[in-house]
Amino acid sequence: MAKGNVFQGIQTTAIHAGEGPDPTTGASAPPLHMSSTFVTEDVAGFSAHDLTPDSPYLYARWANPNVASLEAKIAALQGTEGCLCTASGMAAATAIFLTFLSAGDHAIVSDVSYAGVAELARDTLPRLGIEVSTVNLSDLQAVADAIRPNTRLIHSESPVNPILRLTDLAAISKLAHDNGALHSCDATFASPIGMDAVGLGVDLVMHSITKYIGGHGDAVGGAVAGSAELISKMRFEAAIHHGGILSPFNAWLIGRGMATLPLRMKAHEAGAQAVAEWLEADPRVSRVIYPGLPSHPQYDLAQQQMNNTSGMISFQVGNVAKGEAVAQKMIQDLQVMHYAVSLGHHRSLVFWMETQGLMETSFRLDPGQAENYRAFAGDGIFRLSIGLEDAEDLIADLDRVL
Ligand SMILES: *Cc1c(COP(=O)(O)O)cnc(C)c1O
Repeated sequence: MAKGNVFQGIQTTAIHAGEGPDPTTGASAPPLHMSSTFVTEDVAGFSAHDLTPDSPYLYARWANPNVASLEAKIAALQGTEGCLCTASGMAAATAIFLTFLSAGDHAIVSDVSYAGVAELARDTLPRLGIEVSTVNLSDLQAVADAIRPNTRLIHSESPVNPILRLTDLAAISKLAHDNGALHSCDATFASPIGMDAVGLGVDLVMHSITKYIGGHGDAVGGAVAGSAELISKMRFEAAIHHGGILSPFNAWLIGRGMATLPLRMKAHEAGAQAVAEWLEADPRVSRVIYPGLPSHPQYDLAQQQMNNTSGMISFQVGNVAKGEAVAQKMIQDLQVMHYAVSLGHHRSLVFWMETQGLMETSFRLDPGQAENYRAFAGDGIFRLSIGLEDAEDLIADLDRVL
């Protein structure tokens, strides 16, 4: 295997890193290894403690050739020594929290984040004796004020789901490291192409690979990229002991999708820019948030930190009644986009997210945080994931339903 190769360009890396012609058959495309166990010639111990980076394949919960190939590809593109793939993006978040936090530790988590992560951090971690503060990470003073002597982890997201607020990753990394904490960032919305998270100081870069990395809406998975030392700790805890591993078939599908990630991200960005500009000029739309628009409240940070502004847009159409009416019309009349959750696929997806409901379920914000949320989302937003269709067809679809 051409594992660990570093190529000059990102498109070459996306295609060739982590794979090579099959040594036994010469197959140019990677064979799928559906085998739970591997015949071994070594008399090796069967404990997570016996695993080394050079261990042969032994059992698929430890390592599988297709999963290892995808891990090498993600690590190469993200610029890290290692990567651990997991059964889902949520399993990746759980892997970070349960590997690096213990009872008595304190974690700072973004006040607004992917709903599952927000609920896991707020409701589950305290049950295990881990203290959690939910903080608006775009307010650096609030982060500094929240740090305690036992703070071990700051978990950020950028852009933040669903409002597309950005986090200054270099500043948060510095705050974390000055205080002896790790910085993990959920970079699902940006993909490895959108930001050099590691260059900005992030220790652990997490992705739901269900989204842009897989890119075709057909397989669920997660990944965390980081140093060899941090990733081997996670493999020991999260993969071998907690067991939430990625299946070989999903790794094969996601690896195939990932070969075109840099090309797809260019097309997602171009499509999103065209649709965002059209939405912003339309009087039926009251607000558009897209990091590629100069009207984004953190446009300067976007220019500085993002190499690609990705395909996610959020927009408002006015009050709750108007939002619900447009959502209803979308369900009935959209011809190209699918009215569905998830994102990052070749098909465009749109979903209405009403603010008050989210406040009662996923996010329980204090008045200052809620005010900041509403400054981005108003009474509710449409979260729009621009796929790879022609922008004219997407615009015509939106024009039909607004
Ligand atoms: C989808 C998503 C997740 C969860 O990933 P799954 O693969 O659905 O488990 C986590 N974070 C973000 C930002 C997401 O969009």
